[in-house]
Parts: sequence; C-alpha cells; structure tokens
Amino acid sequence: MDQKVKDLLLSEAENHKDRLVNLVSKLTQFDSYIGDEKEIAHFVKDELNNIGLDVRTTDVDHDLIKKRKEYIPMPEDTSYEDRPNVYGTLKGNGGKNSRPLYLFGHTDVVPVDENTTWKYPPFSGQVDGDKIYGRGSADMKGGVGVGIVALEILKKLNLKLKGDVTGQFVIEEEAGGNGTLFAALQNEFLSNGACIMLEPTGTHQIMVSNRGAQYFRITVPGTEGGTEYHREIDSAIDNAYMVIKIIKKFSDYRESVVDHPLYKHERTTKVPTAVGRIMSGAWPSTIPGEAVLEGTIECLPGENIDEIVEEFHKFILSEVSDFEWYKKNKIKFEKFGLFFESGITDPDHEFIKILSKSTEGVDLEKPKIIGGGGSDLRLPVNINKCPTVLFGPGGGPIHSVDEWVSIDQLVKMLKICLLTAVDWCELDG
Ligand SMILES: [Zn+2]
Repeated sequence: MDQKVKDLLLSEAENHKDRLVNLVSKLTQFDSYIGDEKEIAHFVKDELNNIGLDVRTTDVDHDLIKKRKEYIPMPEDTSYEDRPNVYGTLKGNGGKNSRPLYLFGHTDVVPVDENTTWKYPPFSGQVDGDKIYGRGSADMKGGVGVGIVALEILKKLNLKLKGDVTGQFVIEEEAGGNGTLFAALQNEFLSNGACIMLEPTGTHQIMVSNRGAQYFRITVPGTEGGTEYHREIDSAIDNAYMVIKIIKKFSDYRESVVDHPLYKHERTTKVPTAVGRIMSGAWPSTIPGEAVLEGTIECLPGENIDEIVEEFHKFILSEVSDFEWYKKNKIKFEKFGLFFESGITDPDHEFIKILSKSTEGVDLEKPKIIGGGGSDLRLPVNINKCPTVLFGPGGGPIHSVDEWVSIDQLVKMLKICLLTAVDWCELDG
C-alpha cells in the first residue's frame, strides 16, 4: 500500500477516536439480550443509513434454519419477527478478481446475573480512563462499533476499492449461532471474500479455527428405596459417580492422543470432555432410582464431532458393561441441544497474511495465529467456504462482572480493519 494512503487511514482512525468511543458506549447501553435485539438492530440500521451505505435487514426464517443440522434448538414459540440481521455495504467498483471483506459483529449479549454488584450499572456504557464498562462492551459492542466506524471512514475517504466492504450485524450468537446460520444460508458470505469476526480476542492473537462440540445426556439407573436399605440397593448417585470417573478417563485418553499445531497454546485442556450438570434425588432420606448427567464433548479441527461422540458412547458402554447394576438396568445415552462442527481457515491463506501484516505500523507485535473454542466461525467456513477469523478489540471479564473494552484496543482494531480493507479489497487503478 502507498505510504500516503496508509498515513491517511491511520490519521483518520485517530481522528475518529471520540466518535468510536461514543458509539461503543451507546451500543453498550442497549440491554440486547437474546430475543431483544430489535432496538439495537434498528439503531445499527440507522447508523449504517446515515453513513450512506446500501443497507438491508432480514428477519431470520425459523422454518428454514430448523431444517439444518447446524440449527441450535430454540423454544418452538421463539419469535424472529423484527429482530433482524442488519447489513451495510460499501459497494466496490467490482470487476474481475474483486474480493469482498466482511466486518462481522453480533448484537446480542449474555444476561446480567441479578445477584452481582457492578462498579457501574451494567448498561451504563460508562467511560473511565482507557475502559468502556458494561455488559457486552467487549463481547461485542466494541467490535460492532469498530465495524461501523471503519465503514464510515472508508465511505468518507471515497477511496474507490474494487471489492465490497460489508458490515454484518447478526442476532443470537450467544445462543450458538442461529443468526449467523441464517446469514450463511442466505449466502451473505462469498467464497472469494473474507470475514473478520470482531470478537474480543485482543489484537495479540488471530483465531483461525473453532472446536466442534456436542451436548450429551446420560441417564444412569439405580434402585429406589429408603436410606435404611442403602447397603443393599444400588444408588443411582453412586452409579453416576462411576460413570463420571469413566468420562474423566475418556477425557484423559483424548487429551493424550489428540494433537493439533493450532492448539499447542492451551494450558491443561486442548479438547474438553466434562460433565457440567447432575440431577438426581427427590428426598433426603430416599435413595434415588435415577441420575442424569449432562455435559459437553468437543473435538479439534480435522475431527468429525459425530464420530467422536460415537467413540465416546462406545467407550462408556464397554467400561460399564461389567458393573452389576448395569446388567440389571442399562444406561441411556443421548445427544441434545448444542451441536458445533469444527471449522478451520487455512493459516497460510493470503487473507491471514494480509491481516497479520496490517498490524505492522499499528504499534503492535505480530499476532499469534491460534485455534479457538466454540464460535460462529464454523458456519461461513463450512457452509460458504469463506475464510473467516476471530480477531477483535480486547477487554476484561467477558460474560462476567465489570466487563469492559479497551479504548486503545478499539482504535488499534479500527486501524487494522482499514488497512486490511484496502489491502484485501484493493484500490481500483
Ligand atoms: Zn461474542
């Protein structure tokens, strides 16, 4: 890129710092829980219209997404009316080999725990030093703000790019990705394009993959009776404890055999399998006849989650087969709820090189290329073959008390988006 253009982009980003801070603060003031994205969607739409982009909104079609294996089950009466995905496109000049760039954000946030006390009210969007506080400030109103202001600057500079730059602002990411699934099914991501999901990774790392995951439920039998019989009958809780030990054994086994270059950074677990929930018992003096374990099993890129779940199921059956209680009553194994396929963007893809390079001149060390956990990345990657990364402004306690996003990170990410847009979409002439 021409040094003049680069300097112009960097100085425009600096000049838009206050605008960006104000916008992210405003976005954080929406309590846009899943199902309540209407108001913020309309706010974002108005912002994109004010910039002068081609703006579209689409309500998610529940019947359409339901038919797909990637669908995350939602209650039957979930309404997708007027809580749309919002898109704003800065049209490029097009032509042969023009490549679109997608700046992606989700508008929903996870709930605030009513029993917690925050430094500032969770939907205040309070600015304090380098931080903007509030639920969703980091995850990911900060990313949404960066996407909008990047488009605003590109439009204002009238740079004549070949490829389109589109801001994509979807709903319901925190529930598992139905908003993105719908966008993918609508071909909002093209295979010759590239997508930055501006999730709060921080600018020191680019995530190019996500693990696959599946919720499981194991119903463990026992024999019901009063506690005075506890030496004679088998408690479902005791039996469930044996099953938990088997699950831990499987988890250790997976950890020892599975390997992937992008997951070397993980501290103690690169591929989790664990129980997160136990339900059993109706009365303190009754031995329960049934216990239910629910948990998550995951897999790394290159693995098929269905096959790993099948292996897990067989492992459990073979381990429990010798237990006396199992000979009387079988356990029940089910998959339910959350289902993620693994997904990966080639770390050597040209887009990753351009993105990494754009951090030079932004006063940043070259970011590490790593693998991530569960995310929406899998959807554009697997459905649309669109190279996609997670890379966005970092902050603190995501999904937790006193969540904040760093203003310094917002500005750096804005610069990175601008430089990447010009290098990837290319100047015409
Ligand atoms: Zn997020």
